[in-house]
Amino acid sequence: MPDIESRIVTEAALTPQDIHDRYRVLNGAIYGLASHGKWLGAFKPGNRSPDVKGLYLAGGAAHPGPGMPMVLMSGWIAADSLDQDRAAPRAQPPLNQYTAAPSPAAVV
Ligand SMILES: Cc1cc2nc3c(=O)[nH]c(=O)nc-3n(C[C@H](O)[C@H](O)[C@H](O)COP(=O)(O)OP(=O)(O)OC[C@H]3O[C@@H](n4cnc5c(N)ncnc54)[C@H](O)[C@@H]3O)c2cc1C
Repeated sequence: MPDIESRIVTEAALTPQDIHDRYRVLNGAIYGLASHGKWLGAFKPGNRSPDVKGLYLAGGAAHPGPGMPMVLMSGWIAADSLDQDRAAPRAQPPLNQYTAAPSPAAVV
């Protein structure tokens, strides 16, 4: 089709700049941090901030990574981390008097 260009009626493009402007995605990087080197795969920043106590990270730039399924998982892990940090310490199970190990009945 040598004349294909002259047949185009309308043309639209979605560039990284458009994505940045339209969706507020930094520099149009739809999957956030580059997925190579130290950020490869699920090796994204952890969901519990090591620097700020009480700060939890969730989203495409946090563990386990971008894309809707992973982002949902990220929120779940962040919420779970918060839950663990705020939970009251568990009561110690009674010790077995002969082995000094938790009594089997106490380990459920
Ligand atoms: C065009 C496009 C197509 C995609 N297609 C797919 C796909 O097919 N499948 C898939 O799994 N993933 C897809 N993704 C990726 C997926 O959308 C992202 O991985 C996911 O949305 C990231 O979730 P998030 O919560 O980290 O960030 P976002 O969903 O980007 O949410 C961040 C929110 O923060 C807001 N915000 C930003 N800055 C500020 C500020 N300063 N103050 C207040 N609010 C702020 C933004 O407006 C936005 O609402 C696509 C992404 C794009 C852009």
